[in-house]
Amino acid sequence: MKYEKSVNNVHDSILYIPGVSSLLTLAWIKDVDLRVKKLDETFFNSLSGVKKGLNELYPKLGFKGKVKAEETRKNNFNNKDYGIYFSAGADSTCLYLKIRKYKPELFTILGAVTPLNNHKMIKKIRQSVKTFAEKEKIKINFIETNIREVLNEGLLTSEYAKLFPNPDKTWWDAINHGIVQLGLSAPLTPANIGKMVFATNGNSPHGGNYKIITRIAWSDLEILPEGKYYHRYEKIKEFYKKYVDEKNFYPILKVCNYSPIVSDRFNCCSCEKCAFTITSLLLAGVDPRKSGFPINYGFFKYVKDTIFPNAHSQTTWINIQENIEKNYAESIDYSRSFLETLKNQKFAPLRDDIRPSEFGLNTKWTIFSIFYRLPKAVQLKLLKMFYNSIYLRVYSRAHS
Ligand SMILES: [Zn+2]
Repeated sequence: MKYEKSVNNVHDSILYIPGVSSLLTLAWIKDVDLRVKKLDETFFNSLSGVKKGLNELYPKLGFKGKVKAEETRKNNFNNKDYGIYFSAGADSTCLYLKIRKYKPELFTILGAVTPLNNHKMIKKIRQSVKTFAEKEKIKINFIETNIREVLNEGLLTSEYAKLFPNPDKTWWDAINHGIVQLGLSAPLTPANIGKMVFATNGNSPHGGNYKIITRIAWSDLEILPEGKYYHRYEKIKEFYKKYVDEKNFYPILKVCNYSPIVSDRFNCCSCEKCAFTITSLLLAGVDPRKSGFPINYGFFKYVKDTIFPNAHSQTTWINIQENIEKNYAESIDYSRSFLETLKNQKFAPLRDDIRPSEFGLNTKWTIFSIFYRLPKAVQLKLLKMFYNSIYLRVYSRAHS
């Protein structure tokens, strides 16, 4: 991990937290001991609760290993300032806007969703977050991590995802993203941060679940998870749209999980996550092209023909549908007829008891385990081919 601020004066018991939190779940799932010389006492004591949370969420996995510290130390800093984990996504941006009166410092982890070797994209993220922070007159902490390359996450996913309640999730999404990101920030907090805010959707089994996030702790710092009660559209309407109207400034949103891997585009504008964010912006009366989604009118047909019939995020779409009559606005040309179509679209709520067949899952994870044993360069080449054939189409049309 790499910090831009000096952490020379931070006690070792805090400095070990990022390393431990990055390797923790691997040790637990493999039932081995993770030994460390010194560790913050509160953090050390919190780990049994975190492990319990993981075992409650994923009872078929069995997290067993132990963290052993030769020495623990009680740290109290009595700090008052706020920090917020800020990826520039819709959730963390809306959460920042919700609490902006506290002037929270931004903690932006580089290497989490966007690989560090995507230099162009990393540069763009830094610039975009800097522009936003300057506008808001707040401080930023960039933290670089290569933990997603150090761990062979693909292999962990192919080995364990079939035992997740939602077998489509990856190791990072389901297990690691909350623990690792929180732990990485620890060395930067003793100086002045007393409360850290983390955007999460709460209750479904994933790495940002309340059963994990609310149990992680170090020193006397408070971790505040936020976001449980809002759907994507509601957040955008309540916080983003109001801010845009008030400041006449559009924070750039980076919501896509595909673009950062294979391109330097913030958003592919073709995946479902991009599609429901764009639609939420349209319904809220925001022109998505000013928020980081350079769509053209091909987007509407593409979403109707391709995204709606294969939607996975039914509850998000249904929430957007429910708000169409109440908050109607023509954001850009043709958005009205698109929203009319959406209003009449049938989305069946997802049922937890419907899972892909065991045969299908086993085949999928066998292919994955072969794929993730290939050299990294070959993996990347194949991923680029795959994503470019499936995604990025609407964007490409808009910019060709
Ligand atoms: Zn996308």
